[in-house]
Amino acid sequence: MTNETGAAKARCVHCREEISVADRYAHGDHIKCGVCGTKHKVVRGDRLRLVIADVGPLRDSLAQNEKLVERLEAELAHARASFGIGANGIGIRLIYALYQVGVNSAPISQGLALTSLGVALVSGLLLEAANWSFLAKRNALMRIGQELDEARAEGQKLRQLIREASKI
Ligand SMILES: [Zn+2]
Repeated sequence: MTNETGAAKARCVHCREEISVADRYAHGDHIKCGVCGTKHKVVRGDRLRLVIADVGPLRDSLAQNEKLVERLEAELAHARASFGIGANGIGIRLIYALYQVGVNSAPISQGLALTSLGVALVSGLLLEAANWSFLAKRNALMRIGQELDEARAEGQKLRQLIREASKI
C-alpha cells in the first residue's frame, strides 16, 4: 500500500494506530509511533511490517504474566482439591440423610415421628448448604480457569512479539 508521497502505512504494534513509513526508512531502521510513542523497527520483507524496537518492557510484562499464570495455576489446583472434597461431602451427607429417613420412616410413636421430621429438616438444610457451596466452588473453578486461559493467551502474544522483534 504505497501512496504518492512514497510512504507506506503499517500499524503500531502497541496501539494499532496507522504509522506512515517513508521510503527512506530501510529495513531495521527505527520509527516511533506518533500516537503512543512506542519505538518500532521497520521490517521490509514481502510486505512492510513494524516490530517493537525495545523488547525490555515486553520481557518485563512477560515475567509478570508468567508469575500471574503460576499463581492462577496454584489457585486452580487448590480450588480443584477443595471442589473434590466438597463433592465427596455431598455424597456422604446424602447417604446419611437417606439412612436417617429410612431408619425413622416407620414411626411407632409421635415422639419418633417428630424426631424423623427433625432429622429430615436438618438433612435438607445440610444438603442445601452443601449444594450452595458446591455451586460456589464450581463458579470459582470456572472463573479461575477463564482467567488462566486469558493470562496464557496474553503470554503467548507477548512471546510472539518478542520472537518477531528479536529476529530483526
Ligand atoms: Zn502506537
